[in-house]
Amino acid sequence: MGFLAGKRALIVGVATDRSIAWGIAQAMHREGAELAFSYVERMKERVEPLAQSLGCPLTVPLDVTVDGQIEAAFELLKREWGHLDSLVHCVAFAPREAIAGSFIDNTSREAFRVAHDVSSYSFTALARGAKPLMAGRGGALLTLSYLGAVRSIPNYNVMGLAKASLEANVRFTAADLGPQGIRVNGISAGPIRTLSAAGVAGFRKMLAHVAQIAPMRRNVTLEDVGNAAAFLCSDLAAGITGEILYVDGGFSTVGMSFPLEAEG
Ligand code: NAD
Repeated sequence: MGFLAGKRALIVGVATDRSIAWGIAQAMHREGAELAFSYVERMKERVEPLAQSLGCPLTVPLDVTVDGQIEAAFELLKREWGHLDSLVHCVAFAPREAIAGSFIDNTSREAFRVAHDVSSYSFTALARGAKPLMAGRGGALLTLSYLGAVRSIPNYNVMGLAKASLEANVRFTAADLGPQGIRVNGISAGPIRTLSAAGVAGFRKMLAHVAQIAPMRRNVTLEDVGNAAAFLCSDLAAGITGEILYVDGGFSTVGMSFPLEAEG
């Protein structure tokens, strides 16, 4: 029996089979969780077959910038399931021109607003929706962050500020919901080639840099992040909340590193 047997989770943020949310869904499914998937309308044709491939027919349209869709999604879950054990939030967006080049020159008021709305406020809004479905039974909320929350990274720009907000969001939400037995954590993942990642200028250079510098001398995989996420959503992590867990092959721990060919 898997360590998530009997748990029900909503996965928000699958777009393709390369999405981090999909890696998490596969790991949670393997450990016995029953899953529901949300999708943005333009990704419906991609997400529904993925959900069905795991034998999880419950899907719901959800654009996190639309309050009515958030309400409708949790109403549907209440009707279908009555309760919820986990919410996995893998959502981020910034206008493309804001995640390239000069931070100061390319961060407009509107880009700042959109990045923070979609990438951080949405976590608060979804937590509010999930809370009544977790009442009296506890639960786990999980989101996805990146090192740009705490370090400057070329081109990541306003998304780094939004991730800093998201990480603070994890801590405040954990403090708010902890007394009700609801745990709230984040994973700070190393770079992985996905649809969103392709929007960050120079992303391929980031992958190559990490593979040279990280202690594990490789980039992380969907499986690496999925397994850590499944753990954080399970009772195995019952004592962990308000935490940002780095799943990055150790990259964030390094002060200095020489590429392998230069060692010795
Ligand atoms: P992805 O493109 O597969 O997933 C991003 C998801 O966000 C998509 O499913 C997209 O539909 C969704 N989304 C965007 N705007 C939305 C909206 N208004 N309403 C609802 N959903 C919306 O890319 P990914 O890399 O798997 O991203 C998932 C999360 O992981 C993001 O928070 C991202 O910042 C984070 N992350 C990614 C990396 C990486 O290198 N890929 C590293 C660390 C953290």
